Amino acid sequence: MSLTEFDLIKRYFEVEPPRQAINQLGIGDDCALLQVPSGCQVALTCDTMVENVHFFSGADPESLGHKLLAVNLSDLAAMGAEPFAATLALTLPRIDESWLTAFCRGFFSLAKLHKVDLIGGDTTSGPLTLTVQAFGIIQQGAALLRSNAEPGDGIFISGEIGNAGLGLKILKGYTCSDATSMLNCLDKPQPRIAQGLALRHKASACIDISDGLTADLNHILEASNVGASIYWEKLPLSPPVSAYIEESGDWLMPLTAGDDYELCFTAPTTMIDELPAGSICIGEITAESGLRLYRDGCLQSLTRKGYEHFA
Ligand code: ADP
Ligand code: MG
Repeated sequence: MSLTEFDLIKRYFEVEPPRQAINQLGIGDDCALLQVPSGCQVALTCDTMVENVHFFSGADPESLGHKLLAVNLSDLAAMGAEPFAATLALTLPRIDESWLTAFCRGFFSLAKLHKVDLIGGDTTSGPLTLTVQAFGIIQQGAALLRSNAEPGDGIFISGEIGNAGLGLKILKGYTCSDATSMLNCLDKPQPRIAQGLALRHKASACIDISDGLTADLNHILEASNVGASIYWEKLPLSPPVSAYIEESGDWLMPLTAGDDYELCFTAPTTMIDELPAGSICIGEITAESGLRLYRDGCLQSLTRKGYEHFA
């Protein structure tokens, strides 16, 4: 016999009581209840993934469960917030228990890793649409905004870019010797929570790279009312991405492809020695507005934009 909506919630989602003290009441009532320590702020964010927009139909449900939570935790990381809870809204075309089991495996293993309690949600039938809202805690005034970058600050990224973009090309038919690791970057991004926490009181501005480095760095530039110069040779690229560029000449790919979920942040030069290990300087903030990219010492024009819905 098939499950009802309420059986489904009990079997798959109301599986453990909340563990974090902030989460005073979890799944089962009309609302969850949070007890926020004084002097702290709650950072909250929401991201949706829609079949055939964010993932192909038939995509691996375990990866979807992981990625749905990961992209939300990545926003908390970019704010310097420490995750503690999430809600989950699921719209499913039908109840498919093997799909749900795998989805939950992906979701809860990442949740456990980052001590995130699932405290509520909604379950409806309809076209496959997955939404998470994630909650983080941060000391009042310590959040990493997009708006405080200053001329002279260095621009840094937390790790390689372009791997997820190459993974997408592999899904569309590109062949590469290291396909598994590139697909893993696309399907199972790791939110840079520890780096975000370590950047509090050090970075002047921060964003996570979801839509491509140039698009996301531009958000910092606009919010801070500054410009930037970045240097292509400084970009950290994996061997498969370098090989792809060598073959195709498509050197813009790592700058414009989305889904990397590394952090892009700015910091005064006096902070350089205190940044998290692995931070890579790719350029500097300028008073002159606009984003300038240099490759082989030459100024390049940046035309291709990041992904935009409704564009
Ligand atoms: P309501 O009718 O008050 O919106 P629901 O019947 O939708 O409540 O949900 C019952 C309880 O189960 C609520 O606490 C809700 O937060 C939780 N819930 C529903 N769907 C999910 C889900 N997909 N994941 C986690 N919690 C859920
Ligand atoms: Mg409901």
